[in-house]
Amino acid sequence: MNLCAMDSSTQARNTVIIGGGIVGISTAYFLTRHARYDPAIHKITVLEASEIAAGSSGKGGGFLASWATPKCLAPLSYELHKRLANEHGGEKKWGHRTVHAAEVKLRGRDHTNEDADKDDIPADFDWLDPESIKSYHPVGTPADSAQVHPFLLTNALAELAEQSGVNIILGHAKGINYASSDSSGIRVGSVSYTPQSQAENEMPLPASDIVVAAGPWTSKLLPRVKLLSPKGHSMVIQPNTNRTISPHILFAEIQSPDVGTLTPDIYPRPRDSLHSFETIYTSAPDSYNDDLPSRAADTVIQKEEIDKLYKTVSSVSSVVRDGKVIATQACYKAQIRKHEEGEEVGPIVGPVPGIRGLWVATGLDEWGVQNGPGVGLLMSEMILDGEARSADVRALDPKHWI
Ligand SMILES: Cc1cc2nc3c(=O)[nH]c(=O)nc-3n(C[C@H](O)[C@H](O)[C@H](O)COP(=O)(O)OP(=O)(O)OC[C@H]3O[C@@H](n4cnc5c(N)ncnc54)[C@H](O)[C@@H]3O)c2cc1C
Repeated sequence: MNLCAMDSSTQARNTVIIGGGIVGISTAYFLTRHARYDPAIHKITVLEASEIAAGSSGKGGGFLASWATPKCLAPLSYELHKRLANEHGGEKKWGHRTVHAAEVKLRGRDHTNEDADKDDIPADFDWLDPESIKSYHPVGTPADSAQVHPFLLTNALAELAEQSGVNIILGHAKGINYASSDSSGIRVGSVSYTPQSQAENEMPLPASDIVVAAGPWTSKLLPRVKLLSPKGHSMVIQPNTNRTISPHILFAEIQSPDVGTLTPDIYPRPRDSLHSFETIYTSAPDSYNDDLPSRAADTVIQKEEIDKLYKTVSSVSSVVRDGKVIATQACYKAQIRKHEEGEEVGPIVGPVPGIRGLWVATGLDEWGVQNGPGVGLLMSEMILDGEARSADVRALDPKHWI
């Protein structure tokens, strides 16, 4: 499937990537690692409206699984995470480690769970109140599941990309400008943007290729790409314990006396370059009640959502209850449509039909941290080889959604 007739290896390319989340940054990083990349003729710019990893790539959970969806992409991206961690010291720099994962049913402060099968519960899984555990069903093991700190990973890859010649501009892309060219029809010409330092001053950034990797904001630049933008609140807690928190990622259903039933995800995290202690990250389920703000930096954190989340998780863990809240946050993810657990819907990765030099990579939904490096590698191949080589991702072609 040759996407581009241009001789990619010798022609000057000026690639502008809109969005400094995991997808945009992975694309920049893998472009610089491509065998055909030549900084003398290939210019790469990332345009980011707020800061690197300002959206869900900085505030998401960071769970990785080789069994994630879609099957045509997830195993490749899971292996790339391992490769990146080995090559760049990801264990220390961004907390890459293998984990257990489980679906759990918990009952907060109502410790009469005669129905729990205690034999299923791992011995080192002692940072939840043992009486609260009603059921424990493993869904992942260290052989197929891992985690990263997405903010640290995205920023580390951005730094590596910059060291290899990528220019990162903090500025808001306002529009894509097109040009008609001889026999080949419409093609991209430039991106209009306002630099953060001069927000009133709109200026053009010439481009031969434009990759729109703006997460849920992609629809603002490409209205033909229809997306939902569910919002997720999350928080980071310093647990009150001197003991190690076992690496169990939990997809929980918690019944608590104050809140009722809530389904948060709970992710213990190792010490990292932000915190000299282990932390527990937890996120609330998606909410569809809020409109997308114009920039990630303008996202409003709703106190009542955070309170609900904290009360729920506290009700099943004394180390959380007696711990310290060190961050509260909210972000939006790009979703093509609502879907069942495990159902494959997107992401959208590839050339925008009918416009030469225009590429889109969005709709990564709940698996964007896991799948971001894979999308970045494939996008670099599409741009510099003219086709995706590391995986058959024809099912993700934008023509299916646009
Ligand atoms: C609560 C929560 C938990 C999650 N947990 C996990 C998990 O455990 N594992 C997993 O794999 N995934 C998880 N995800 C999903 C994952 O975080 C996202 O799919 C992924 O981060 C999307 O990355 P992205 O680069 O496509 O978009 P984003 O991270 O949204 O990045 C887009 C970037 O584009 C910038 N931008 C937007 N418009 C413009 C513009 N006009 N000009 C310039 N810049 C612009 C934004 O500022 C932003 O930085 C979670 C998501 C949420 C909300």
